[in-house]
Amino acid sequence: MKYNSTRNKNTVVTAAQAIAQGISEEGGLFVPQSLPKYSPEEIKALATEDYRGRAKRIFADFLSDFTEQEIAESVDAAYTAEKFGSDNPAPISYIESGSTRMSLLELWHGPTCAFKDMALQILPHLLTKSVKKTCAGKEAVILVATSGDTGKAALEGFKDVEGTRIMVFYPVNGVSPMQKRQMATQKGENVSVAAIEGNFDDAQTGVKRIFTNSEIKARLAENNKLFSSANSINWGRLLPQVVYYFSAYCDMLNEGKLSLGDKINVVVPTGNFGNILASFYAMNMGLPINRFICASNSNNVLTDFIRTGTYDKKRHFYTTISPSMDILVSSNLERLLYHLTDGNAEKVAQWMNELSAEGCYTVDADVRAKLSALFYGGFCDDENTKKTIRKLYKEENYLCDTHTAVAVNVYQQYVAETGDLTPAVIASTASPYKFARSVLQAVSDDELPDDEFAMVDELSAKTKTPVPAPLAALKEAKVRFELECSVDAMPETVLKGLGIN
Ligand SMILES: *Cc1c(COP(=O)(O)O)cnc(C)c1O
Repeated sequence: MKYNSTRNKNTVVTAAQAIAQGISEEGGLFVPQSLPKYSPEEIKALATEDYRGRAKRIFADFLSDFTEQEIAESVDAAYTAEKFGSDNPAPISYIESGSTRMSLLELWHGPTCAFKDMALQILPHLLTKSVKKTCAGKEAVILVATSGDTGKAALEGFKDVEGTRIMVFYPVNGVSPMQKRQMATQKGENVSVAAIEGNFDDAQTGVKRIFTNSEIKARLAENNKLFSSANSINWGRLLPQVVYYFSAYCDMLNEGKLSLGDKINVVVPTGNFGNILASFYAMNMGLPINRFICASNSNNVLTDFIRTGTYDKKRHFYTTISPSMDILVSSNLERLLYHLTDGNAEKVAQWMNELSAEGCYTVDADVRAKLSALFYGGFCDDENTKKTIRKLYKEENYLCDTHTAVAVNVYQQYVAETGDLTPAVIASTASPYKFARSVLQAVSDDELPDDEFAMVDELSAKTKTPVPAPLAALKEAKVRFELECSVDAMPETVLKGLGIN
């Protein structure tokens, strides 16, 4: 299996190159040249395996330059019961009220309590093996821009991994107090964290600029280092996410919730478009998916895009209670456009250039038609997010986080609008305890305590749900990182951090 760049069809790389490099030279993203196809019989066979078995099977198709043993080592080290609380890292909670059936695919049982762990527990294994294959002996410098959850998950995945250094940039006022504390207290000798004066898009643009700066790249090469990415622009982030859609379908078959061949709808609270894109790949590999429901918060650039075919980032940036979705430039949409244009790299490059030069682009009528046939876009503001958390808790005794609530709300809008009752798999992307203030406000009428950890305790007492151990432990953890820098100072911060300024 080889990979092309979304912006240049002549770029052809192996999986290991795609993962080690993260992003293509000309700024494009790596995409598989073709997709393996799973027949219903093969899906049935997958259902007899456990999560790790399913992952190994799917990985083998995409990582054809990895040995079976390398894949097994990576999968077995990543998805342990110790890290994810059970042998199934992605369990489903079923809510069946009236005619609406929601299957909440809980992707947040990992060490940092958000779905990013599903990919970032395995990425370090794939990445170190990829570097060994393609440029042995070099140190990989992982640069991360985060809207909150990726940063911590990447730090936790890469801490003290030999041959790697990791640097995380987060928007100074754009993450929850718990997310900030998770990052500021990170342990490990090869990690660093800085807050940047700007929003997530500024951080992401800053990181992309460093990646493509040939002067900085040369400096790194002189010092036997190379840049790589742990953001979802890296193929090694997306591939592990394909697995849990197949796995959810298999679990639902085994639990009698579906019959082989039945279609599902997939609902995803979306930011950088990585999670929902993974489900799009799953469908193209044979998983019976009817519709993708793309849920946004008030930063509803994707809702508008799906409805009109025009992507316009020139709009107000809202800081919301679902901060991991506060994004106006969804990087992975580029991959979807590549596939919807049947691999028209020139077109994609042109649209991406328009986006960075003019702040908007409009896709062709045929792409727009495909887009609206497959995707439904909707959004939910903060007030309705809280109402949804409250209602789900009061009526179904299910406590969800702010991001998941956005998805549930948009799904309900979808059902009201279309009457489509195809069973829905809703990605539940974070533990409610990561966003304790907003969740507590939603379920309780009492005055809030002012300390974050007091809110966590109160939420637990009130709802009789346990505080995840990694979050509880943060209360006593020592703060190690307090640096703040401007976007312009990011390159210097990186070089200084590496000791080669
Ligand atoms: C990252 C994140 C999202 C958005 O996922 P994308 O793959 O970037 O679309 C949604 N919810 C939570 C909790 C997240 O951490």
